[in-house]
Amino acid sequence: MKALTVRPGKAGSAKIDDVAEPDPAEGAALVEMVAVGVCGTDRELAAGEYGEAPPGEDRLVLGHESLGRVLEAPDAGEIAAGDLVAGIVRRPDPVPCSSCAVGEWDMCRNGLYTEHGIKGLHGFARERWREEPDRLVRLDPGLGLLGVLIEPTSVVAKAWEQIERIGHRAHWEPRNVLVTGAGPIGLLAALLGVQRGLEVHVLDRAAEGLKPELVGALGATYHTGSVGGAEPDADVVVECTGAPQLVADVLTHNAPSGVVCLTGVSARGRITTLDLGGINRLMVLENDVVFGSVNANRRHYEAAAAALAATDPRWLERLLTRRVPLDDAVGVLAHQRPEDIKVVLSPPGR
Ligand code: BGC
Repeated sequence: MKALTVRPGKAGSAKIDDVAEPDPAEGAALVEMVAVGVCGTDRELAAGEYGEAPPGEDRLVLGHESLGRVLEAPDAGEIAAGDLVAGIVRRPDPVPCSSCAVGEWDMCRNGLYTEHGIKGLHGFARERWREEPDRLVRLDPGLGLLGVLIEPTSVVAKAWEQIERIGHRAHWEPRNVLVTGAGPIGLLAALLGVQRGLEVHVLDRAAEGLKPELVGALGATYHTGSVGGAEPDADVVVECTGAPQLVADVLTHNAPSGVVCLTGVSARGRITTLDLGGINRLMVLENDVVFGSVNANRRHYEAAAAALAATDPRWLERLLTRRVPLDDAVGVLAHQRPEDIKVVLSPPGR
C-alpha cells in the first residue's frame, strides 16, 4: 500500500513509498485513511530539520493530523468498525515518568515519549494504519472531513487550558487576547478565544485574502505590522509563529499580569539581540508569565471536539483550502502556496 515517507535528517527525501500493511503489533484496531492534514512540522520533517524513524528503520511514515474510518476493532470495546476516528499523536514514554503515568503525556518529563509521524512511530499518511483502541478519539460522524482539524484544535485547546490555569493564580478577569500568526494554529487559537467571550486580535503578515476574511468572520480584529501597533496591551498573548522577532516583541507588549503562551517551534541559530535586563524588570514588576505549550492529551482532544462542534461548519470548511491525493503529497511539502491555510491529503486516487 502507499505511504508518504521521509528519511529523517535528510532534506528532499520525501517520497510516496510502497510499504507493508500495518503490523498487528501496532494496535488492535485497523483504520483506513480518510484524510491527513499537513502542517509546518511535516514541512520541517521533509526539510530534514526534525524527526526520528522508528528504532531499526531508516524511513518514517509522515502524518500526525489524522482522520480515519475503523475497519476492524476488538469486540465489546468502545470503538467499533465504521467509527470515524483520529489517532492521538503522542504515546506516553515507557518508563513511565510521573506525567505520562497519569495520562498527561503532553507534559512528558523524560523526553522518551514517541509521536506518530514525528518521533519514533510511523504516522497516518498511509492507506491503512493500526492503533490501540484506547489511543483513538471517536468523532461525531456529522463532522465529516472537518474531523481532520481535531489534532491542531487539540493543541490550542491545551494552550488555552494552560493559560486559564495560570491566570487563576490570582484574580483573573481577562478582556483581550492577541494571537500572532493567522495560520491554522493561530486561527484556531483565535476561534477558542472568541468562544471564551474575549476581544480577539490577530496579527499576520498577509495584508489581504482569506486570513483577514476568516478573522473578520469570527468577529475578531485583523492587524498587519508590528505587535506594538496591533494590540500592545493584551491580557493574553498566544504566539503561533515561532518567529524570533515576534517572540521578542510579545515579551514586552502585554498587559500587567499578562499571560504569554508560546506555541511555535522555531528553528535554532537565528540570533536576536534582546535587553534581557529590561525584559526581566518588566516581567517582575508586572507579574507577567511567559510559558511554552506543546502537544495534547485526551482531555484536550475532547475539548477540541466540543469546540469544533460549537463552530459554524462553514467557517471551518474555509480553513481546508486544498485537497490533494496522497500520490501528490511530495509537492505539497515542497511548495506552500500563499493562499494555503490547511492542505489535506486524501487517500490515493481520491
Ligand atoms: C504536533 C504536536 C507535536 C509537536 C512536536 C506539532 O506539529 O501538532 O502534536 O507534539 O509538533 O513534535
